[in-house]
Amino acid sequence: MDLTSNEPFWLIKNGLVNNYPSLKENIQTEILIVGGGITGSLMAHQCMEDGFKTTLIDRREIANGSSSATTSMLQYEIDTPLYKLTELIGKEGAEANFWAGHEAIDELESIVKQIQSDCGFKKKESLYYAAYKKDVPNLLKEFEARKTAGFNVQWLSEEEILKKYKLHNAFGGILTDQGGSIDAFRFAHDLLKFNMERGLNVFDKTNLENTAYKNEKVIVTTNFGNTIEAEKIIYCNGYESTEMIKEKFVNLLSSFVIIGEPNEEDQKLLNETLFWDTAEPYIYLRTTDDNRLLIGGEDEDFKDPVKRDQLIGHKSQKLKKKLEKIFPDYQFRTDFSWAGTFGETKDGLPYIGEHPDFKNSYFVLGFGGNGITFSITGKKVISDFLHHKIHPLAKYFEFRR
Ligand SMILES: Cc1cc2nc3c(=O)[nH]c(=O)nc-3n(C[C@H](O)[C@H](O)[C@H](O)COP(=O)(O)OP(=O)(O)OC[C@H]3O[C@@H](n4cnc5c(N)ncnc54)[C@H](O)[C@@H]3O)c2cc1C
Repeated sequence: MDLTSNEPFWLIKNGLVNNYPSLKENIQTEILIVGGGITGSLMAHQCMEDGFKTTLIDRREIANGSSSATTSMLQYEIDTPLYKLTELIGKEGAEANFWAGHEAIDELESIVKQIQSDCGFKKKESLYYAAYKKDVPNLLKEFEARKTAGFNVQWLSEEEILKKYKLHNAFGGILTDQGGSIDAFRFAHDLLKFNMERGLNVFDKTNLENTAYKNEKVIVTTNFGNTIEAEKIIYCNGYESTEMIKEKFVNLLSSFVIIGEPNEEDQKLLNETLFWDTAEPYIYLRTTDDNRLLIGGEDEDFKDPVKRDQLIGHKSQKLKKKLEKIFPDYQFRTDFSWAGTFGETKDGLPYIGEHPDFKNSYFVLGFGGNGITFSITGKKVISDFLHHKIHPLAKYFEFRR
């Protein structure tokens, strides 16, 4: 009997958090945000802080895209190591991007406090460890790059990792003091609720079908035939942005996750730390605020949902085996397993800003393992554009870079 679910854990844990209407009339707004995942919700929060009349629409239920499948590890360290990013975009840009991620975690914490969200946000350390002995030299190189850039990092040997976490087959690693975790699904709903109380309009099951331009305004037609007249559109439509942007700018993959039954006793040593390794594809692990352990990875280089979902059982077994290999003392029983679409860019950086094919529009597309911290940086970049300023990081996030 298959007692595991193919639904992301967060959907089941939280149930129906809030209700939102669909759009039933023609409306006008200053800012229209397309997409109600974690990115759109954070963007809406920023627009409301900035005093814009703001409307958000989503074609599905709120936060039922990638934001329901995410493992929500909050890390300033992006998928491209600092020393490699330095080779790609230079030292100044690479370090500035890592520091932006560092700040993003603090900013998330302060927004969680501001809106009093019950999303289990927790500050954690993060351990990036060598999955193979051959990975140690590059990891040491990364350690030096981070130290030189001023990050508070510590090198842990194989023995120290084993002693501290009972983590086997880790051949050395970088421990950093800045990281965190959150329930992104819950946080997105809490953000929208907070902002609806101060005037944000939110409509779910409302699809952007068509856009036209009239007197410098954008006129959006929705699936019900209603129109939204907006001064600016901010697309926070995640991986579905690939449906509208002609050029290939992101490689879409499938990633798999399992989460165990609550096990307070066995995970005491793990609760304060996020873990990820140097394998390709890498695995990532963390505990949740209700005392479960989750592990994700086993990425496949395709996005076909049918093919992806057929693999969930097989991938769950593989992830469990990997977990047993590195934490042989942990009594893990799989409670839920699921899969989601994941994106990789050529440099590990997001796409944030204007696109030449879309007038009066901005995009906030945080891809890779740092989508959530990128959304925080993204909302600041867009806020600057809306105030006719150019954020210092904007040039690294341009389309066609
Ligand atoms: C398995 C997995 C693990 C991950 N782990 C991490 C992690 O540990 N840390 C991390 O930071 N990130 C992680 N990510 C990435 C992270 O989940 C994403 O970056 C983030 O959820 C993206 O949020 P979003 O709001 O941009 O996109 P989404 O949540 O996908 O939201 C986009 C929304 O746009 C809506 N939409 C699209 N087109 C239209 C339209 N035409 N009209 C109206 N609405 C539209 C969709 O319905 C959707 O709700 C992970 C992702 C996966 C799948």
